[in-house]
Amino acid sequence: MDGHSLLLDSGTHPKKDGKESLPEFGLVTKAPEAVIISHAHIDHCGSVPYLVKQFPLARIYATVPTVRIMDRMLHNSVAVMETLARERGIADYPLYTHDDVHYAMRSIRGFDLGVPFGVNMPIPVKATFHHAGHVLGSASTLLRLPGHTVFYTADICETDQELMGGFRPLDKSVKIDTLIVESTRGATEEHRIKVYSEEIARLSKAVKQVLDQGGAVLIPCFALGRTQEVLNVLARLQEEGRIPTVPIYASGLGRAMYEIYEKYGEYLRPDAMLRSLDSFDRIGNVYDPRKVDELLSHPCIIVATSGMMIENTPSAMIAREMVQQPQHGIFFVGYLDHETLGYKLLHAEPGDLLAFTLRGEPVERKLTNIERFDFSSHAPRQALKDLVERIQPKNVVFVHGDPDAVDWMLANAPGARNSFAPRIGETLTLES
Ligand SMILES: [Zn+2]
Ligand SMILES: [Zn+2]
Repeated sequence: MDGHSLLLDSGTHPKKDGKESLPEFGLVTKAPEAVIISHAHIDHCGSVPYLVKQFPLARIYATVPTVRIMDRMLHNSVAVMETLARERGIADYPLYTHDDVHYAMRSIRGFDLGVPFGVNMPIPVKATFHHAGHVLGSASTLLRLPGHTVFYTADICETDQELMGGFRPLDKSVKIDTLIVESTRGATEEHRIKVYSEEIARLSKAVKQVLDQGGAVLIPCFALGRTQEVLNVLARLQEEGRIPTVPIYASGLGRAMYEIYEKYGEYLRPDAMLRSLDSFDRIGNVYDPRKVDELLSHPCIIVATSGMMIENTPSAMIAREMVQQPQHGIFFVGYLDHETLGYKLLHAEPGDLLAFTLRGEPVERKLTNIERFDFSSHAPRQALKDLVERIQPKNVVFVHGDPDAVDWMLANAPGARNSFAPRIGETLTLES
């Protein structure tokens, strides 16, 4: 913009390691003066400390809860990277240290939803965060630049979840020149979209069946968003008498995020019933197999990170013991990348050998009750199409999806004069 730059999100690639996981910072030839972070999932904020090391003068903006969550997430990332450096010998790791996170956090300012603020640029740019409905603190951003208005959806969910209220569309009077919209579910066909209440009914049946036969249930979950949603779904199902009242356990990072959910209840649905974190028990040391066996010796439900069951995380350490016994159930509730242990476990045959730790011996899968449930916190493609049609921007830019998802959106979402699905490194000229 007139020789000035602003960056929208600065994540790391969840499927790549080391410097490969960073954005192509080589393309950023001019230091960004301002950076807007939409929410605290690692694919949106994971490279912020690295970015701040390269461009120390950049000022960063996020919603107030996102700032709090990022602090926890980024320190956790340092710990994960240190483990990977040690266990897998990834030389680039850690990409940043705890000190770098402290330093980066000093450059971040938090704003509430709906409050316009000026960003650190010599040209007048006003930004406003809008409720995105994805996870606590997640925001779409309206940017008013001189002569051009941009709306960046980031990750959005248009329907209500257990705790989060759905994305609220912009007021019709706001004219958008450029809409930048996510495409996560662009390749998911409509008939494969599950009805939320039906998926919950299916999950509750599956959980009840395992508990009734004396087994334990493991639900691997992302720490931010899915963990808090699922814990409250389970508590509700117990209150409604649909599943037995057994202890529900939650793992560490998910608990840390939960505390921030408790602090910022005003960001949730007005009628959300957020149970106290004390209603959920602590898991204890998952790296001691005897402790895990103790945990599994009575019927219970365990909600543990990571959602895709990355090796060495609590969900993998617990699953390692569980799969050797036939009475339990492991229920995935989110996206599973094909390369991950979670995906391999879901598709393994009984008797297959799988390694749950980075360096440990593989174990045999005896457990058969492993299923996946669909609780996406991303808008389906029809809702994204409707959004483009309602806003009628001059330019629409589809981002944040696998190539087939982004391409589907480009081919099937009319409503803008110019549509783009840029590849990395491509420059777009936007009509004003
Ligand atoms: Zn996200
Ligand atoms: Zn995302």
